[in-house]
Amino acid sequence: MKKVHNFSAGPCILPSSVIEGSADAIREFDGMGLSLIEISHRSKNFERVMDEARQLVKDILNLEDRYEVLFLQGGATLGFYMVPLNILKEGGKAAYANTGVWASGAIKEAKLVGNIDVITDSSASNHNHIPEMPSVDGYDYFHYTSNNTIFGTQYQYTPKVNVPLVCDMSSDIFSKEFNANDFSLIYAGAQKNMGPAGATLYIIDKEMLGKTGRKLPTYLDLASHISKDSMANTPPVFSVYASMLMLRWIKENGGLKGMEIHNRAKQELFYAELDRNSMFHGHSVPESRSWMNPTFRLNNEEHAAAFDAMWKEAGISGIAGHRSVGGYRASMYNALPLESVQVLVDVMKEFERKNG
Ligand SMILES: *Cc1c(COP(=O)(O)O)cnc(C)c1O
Repeated sequence: MKKVHNFSAGPCILPSSVIEGSADAIREFDGMGLSLIEISHRSKNFERVMDEARQLVKDILNLEDRYEVLFLQGGATLGFYMVPLNILKEGGKAAYANTGVWASGAIKEAKLVGNIDVITDSSASNHNHIPEMPSVDGYDYFHYTSNNTIFGTQYQYTPKVNVPLVCDMSSDIFSKEFNANDFSLIYAGAQKNMGPAGATLYIIDKEMLGKTGRKLPTYLDLASHISKDSMANTPPVFSVYASMLMLRWIKENGGLKGMEIHNRAKQELFYAELDRNSMFHGHSVPESRSWMNPTFRLNNEEHAAAFDAMWKEAGISGIAGHRSVGGYRASMYNALPLESVQVLVDVMKEFERKNG
């Protein structure tokens, strides 16, 4: 296969050990004479996979005993609705930060459930920065999006609030050190930084549940999933398995600390070039830059065809920007090697030399 430098925003690049391990399990799983995707999810062999995946999340994040870990379906998109359904009290109120497309998606769905106040908002500047955090008190919870995948901004800190903290971490979970025990609920679609599409991770402080006064349908009830060890119905078997392999890879490569060292080096290399190069400018203000999804534009859009031809020739894939920002987005998830960032940086330098 030709070497491709995969900067896709999601589904994401995965380590070759995860791709190969997944392919092996598709052919034959665990010496059973059957494929992973044709065994019973109630078999002991698969129960071990689900248990290991949940345990790896607890280990990597150093979670206290009050947390449960689930691998469900529906993506973060269902989470936008399911989260308030489970923790926003009847007649209660939640606070949200609007920092981008996914954050406003979460707000829209939460409004179907109850009262929502948007307490901080960066939309007036096309979400080019993380807006200031006001003090937050008297709400059922505060919800934010730690990394804005489309606009390329990221919280550089965990917000301090006097209410339970809830976060959509779809595009930066496991990418650097943070204290997961500061949160009451974290959710994330697998396909940005943890595995293939299909599974959605929920990390829940059990104390949060059972307090809304609302009756929930079985699938949307987080407590019912907890009581069935994340096997209330048929789980997304393949995605859970591949995510389990990815979580093993994260642990073997130094856990959150290891990921932080690796991801810090990549973003430093990229942003140093962006700041030096006279042909480009970034979308995000420097203080809010995302380590995962740098967004940038040409100063002169007439050069687009020439630049596009150069990065394609270098084997780079997936850097076309999202339609709401334009320009380029070079996503640098956990599995992207530093070498790929170097290839992009070299192309940017060469482009400047020829066209600057
Ligand atoms: C991609 C993304 C989503 C949507 O996730 P799905 O799993 O496709 O529903 C939500 N939030 C963030 C931050 C994302 O990056």
